[in-house]
Amino acid sequence: MKAILFHTHGDVSVLEYADFPTPKPGPGEVLVRLKAAALNHLDLWVRAGWPELKLQYPHIPGADGAGEIAALGEGVRDWSVGDRVVINPNLSCGKCEFCLAGFDNRCLDWGLFGETQRGTYAEYIAVPERNLLALPEDFDEHRAAAAALVMLTAWHSLIRRGNMSAGETVLIIGASGGVNLACIQVAKLGGATVYVVGSQANKLALAESLGADYLINRAEVPDWSRELHLMTQKRGVDIIVDNVGTTFPQSFRAARRGGRILTVGNTGNPKIEIDNRYIFAKHLSLIGSSMGTHTDFKKVMKLVFVGRLDPVLDQTFPLSEAGAAQERLARGDQMGKITLAID
Ligand code: ZN
Repeated sequence: MKAILFHTHGDVSVLEYADFPTPKPGPGEVLVRLKAAALNHLDLWVRAGWPELKLQYPHIPGADGAGEIAALGEGVRDWSVGDRVVINPNLSCGKCEFCLAGFDNRCLDWGLFGETQRGTYAEYIAVPERNLLALPEDFDEHRAAAAALVMLTAWHSLIRRGNMSAGETVLIIGASGGVNLACIQVAKLGGATVYVVGSQANKLALAESLGADYLINRAEVPDWSRELHLMTQKRGVDIIVDNVGTTFPQSFRAARRGGRILTVGNTGNPKIEIDNRYIFAKHLSLIGSSMGTHTDFKKVMKLVFVGRLDPVLDQTFPLSEAGAAQERLARGDQMGKITLAID
């Protein structure tokens, strides 16, 4: 099969469009012929590498994908060749204490396509059958792939971990990342009032088109936590979605007493100085989460299939031009999700 792969960490030049043996589905797995893959910032971080990351080379990037079942492994009964599917990229053992408690995204043997295993920038991938969800007739593979990781992550963070409820106020730091855009949609669907802090007018306009109620351009208002304070009549915001990290000091200031700070990652430096006085004196909760559970995936994709959550699609590149697609993502030029077309 054709795939995008790399043999060493580095910039986009390490990516090769090359032949790689088509995987064979093991027991309980199916072989998916991919039609679409979606890019995530994670793909860039995996390509660049970090000290604890040990890849099996050549590595194939990509967490998100959708396509059609091409072959069934031993023991697979619930799927047929030709079924159209979207992939949940989270891999879990199904046996450890966390999996048994329904928190399979905390699995002791957790894995992710495109990170701990070869991913979706390829013509084929072998996937455990329980990681698949059937696509409704006529539902576009690109739309499905673009939704999977970001909507799942946003849902688990805001709804499961953050216990967001209707009528609450939610502040989202950053208007361009896929997870943040998904958070706007999940928060609005859940009946929250949404504030967004961003730095580019076109991205803030995109946030507004997704239903964000209040926009703050931090290029014009660097001290945005003070602005929030004034905008909320000095009360502060119930929930803050901070996936930047270096902005925690301002997020702590913008939170109301008893507020929750949710984080699923850090686009800024991972090491930050925290002033603990804000946490105890304001009764703040700092709540981390990563990805989501199989149950969340089913729930959130159902909402995507009926259009109540709708990923914003940016450009589509052919698989062979994945490098150009990653460069677009790295520059931050994208307005929504970038996808790869795989024929
Ligand atoms: Zn497990």
